[in-house]
Amino acid sequence: MEEGQPRTALVADVAPLIPVARTYSFIVPDDMVASLAIGRRVEVPMGRKGRHVAGFVVGLDERAWDSTLRPIASVVDSASYLTPELVDLGKDIAEHYACPLARTLKAMVPEAVRRQAGFKTVRYARLAGTLADLLADHGRIGSKQKALLEALSASQDAVAVPGLLEQTDASTTTLRGLSDRGWVEITQRKEIIESGEDPDGPPLEEPSFELNDEQSEALAAISGKIDAGGFCVSLLFGVSGSGKTEVYVRAIRRVVAAGRQAIMLVPEIVLTTQLVQRLTSRFADVAVNHSGLSDVQRSLMWRRIAAGEKTVVIGTRSAVFAPCPNLGLIVVDEEQETSFKNLQAPRFNVRDVAIMRGMQLGIPVVLGSATPSIEVWDRSERHRDYQRLALTRRVRDLPMPEVFVVDMRDEHAERKQATIVSRSMERMLTETLQRGEQAVILMNRRGFANRLYCAECKTRIECPNCNAGFVVHTAVGHSKCHYCLTRVPTPTVCPNVTCGAPLTRLGLGTQRVEDVVRMLFPDAVTERVDSDTMTHRDEYERIVADFEAKRIDILVGTQMIAKGLDFPFVSFVGVVNADPTALASDFRAQERLFQLITQVAGRAGRADRPGRVVVQTTMPELPALKFALTHDYESFAAQELEIRRRVALPPYRRLARIVLSHSREEHVRREARGLSERISQCIETEAIEHADVLGPNPCAMSRVRGKYRYELILRTATAADLRKLLRALDTSGALRTKAESLVIDVDPVSMT
Ligand code: ADP
Ligand code: ZN
Repeated sequence: MEEGQPRTALVADVAPLIPVARTYSFIVPDDMVASLAIGRRVEVPMGRKGRHVAGFVVGLDERAWDSTLRPIASVVDSASYLTPELVDLGKDIAEHYACPLARTLKAMVPEAVRRQAGFKTVRYARLAGTLADLLADHGRIGSKQKALLEALSASQDAVAVPGLLEQTDASTTTLRGLSDRGWVEITQRKEIIESGEDPDGPPLEEPSFELNDEQSEALAAISGKIDAGGFCVSLLFGVSGSGKTEVYVRAIRRVVAAGRQAIMLVPEIVLTTQLVQRLTSRFADVAVNHSGLSDVQRSLMWRRIAAGEKTVVIGTRSAVFAPCPNLGLIVVDEEQETSFKNLQAPRFNVRDVAIMRGMQLGIPVVLGSATPSIEVWDRSERHRDYQRLALTRRVRDLPMPEVFVVDMRDEHAERKQATIVSRSMERMLTETLQRGEQAVILMNRRGFANRLYCAECKTRIECPNCNAGFVVHTAVGHSKCHYCLTRVPTPTVCPNVTCGAPLTRLGLGTQRVEDVVRMLFPDAVTERVDSDTMTHRDEYERIVADFEAKRIDILVGTQMIAKGLDFPFVSFVGVVNADPTALASDFRAQERLFQLITQVAGRAGRADRPGRVVVQTTMPELPALKFALTHDYESFAAQELEIRRRVALPPYRRLARIVLSHSREEHVRREARGLSERISQCIETEAIEHADVLGPNPCAMSRVRGKYRYELILRTATAADLRKLLRALDTSGALRTKAESLVIDVDPVSMT
């Protein structure tokens, strides 16, 4: 480039780790060309002062020379598992969930993988020419230097520096001297410290049964899509115990046999130990990405996945971003699970990201559920890229469990006292134990009681930072707020100085239920499973093993026990309290209730014993309960969709929830009102039809950790409209606020 300016240059588009949506372009200096790739982290000068900021390379190409572009300052990553394909996925996620691109990309690679846990940097040295030339050109050198050069000339390849120094007794200073003079080139490589080999999985086994007709038909339909190639979503709608897993396994094998990889996403893996054991025994090169992995194991696992050595990846959220080089299928089990929603920005839903990735790669996606989310159900009815495959019967034609609803208002009235275990539940529990069978009792709240209340002066005792009410844990003698985790000794008398009456405990928790069950059945072995007792994966596995071996008769727990477990001797399931708590504030409360009842009922009667289920409630008229009684998901969904259409809620509209918070209520209310007006204005200027903004209203959890919270709900006809609106709000600066925090949640699942 002697004559004047170069005409073109390699230019990188970089998404910096600052809260902006856009990317910036930089010149790639010559010495970085070799080490730069899409997905790598770099440092770039930003702003007038050229402060160095980290960012991700998201575009790289030769462009016309532009003298205003600044050069990249340095390359941070020597390797990256963010392939160009995943960077493209990141762009879609960033846009859909209104999250800056760099923040999105950062969230897509597990932290341990990003810092390459298990790898160390080793420096390598090689001669910059032949020994003879160097010596001829440069004359006399010291003996240590000469020894180094000779050792290097003896090797064809670059030599690891630590070994080289030891062999020649030279110092790093000597070596640096040679490299400063340009005689020796130093490069760096990442090498594995520990092998971190996976422990041997269970031995491979094959089940002895054949697929039944419905399973075979579903598998044939999915296989057809796999063989044809191209994007398609298959909803495997199968009642619990209908053998969905077997269909996933065979579909995945078909993909693997064709030389491609598959990802299977499951909810919170600690809850699905059994499922994972069953799955890992069916595949040869399977990577299970669970929370019990060490950083080194996770980091090495990503490397093996990227190298194509692992053909099946099973995991929770981050597994959707596994860098499989030739992905052929994504399966999402229990697609309706709310734990698939990421709780920090980017607030993506793993199921929807799986669909985005499938669409981008043009590969099939399989979603499985006994109680599909209303959104997915609706799409499977009217979207041409979706097909619905039904498994209507349990395998081996086992009957569906019989469900009884007990109206607790009658129960309380007849017994003239508050009751925890109704007479029907008590009777069926007795019968179950007499037959030597097992029972599961679901109580959807941890602790002993959830509220302390003064009956005298009507004071409610709340967390000093939140309005959540305290949950009382008697065994440990303290009260804990489940939102901010504040603990105080449980007060016994009203703190109101003019009152001082004894406090009453309201509401129920698992601990209270456990006490009552132990009292009623002193001879039975009762254990409790919730996140208070199960602080470690091992404890959960122990309880599961004990229950499986029938060393436990009754298992009391939160929905931790409702999901995915398969115990042949459970013939009774009791739901202590099926009153939804968020009926008014969360439009999905009925949907959740239906899912919960169906799921927990699915635990009963999975082998040869017919199952029975008792659901206690004070609201037996709720449609969710009415339809759960007859296992009629389709009628429930039809009615629910009708309501959603009438009130213009998803799936007929798309929502984004904006939550503002501040320590002064007046302040946050004013900010929220201002924002609401700016949004209305923006909807008008952008001419977005059928869009509006609801609120501001105080959130259901109106105060958390000392901050007052207000919400706005943006509502549009389509996802594209919502994206357009959020982009316009961002670029016009309308989202700037003096609140302490502003959170945007697109497609929210929690409305607290
Ligand atoms: P789901 O995931 O639909 O609830 P699973 O896949 O867990 O159901 O299957 C329930 C049980 O039935 C498992 O123990 C599984 O091994 C078994 N199973 C699956 N398919 C068949 C079949 N065709 N014949 C007999 N048993 C089967
Ligand atoms: Zn609190």
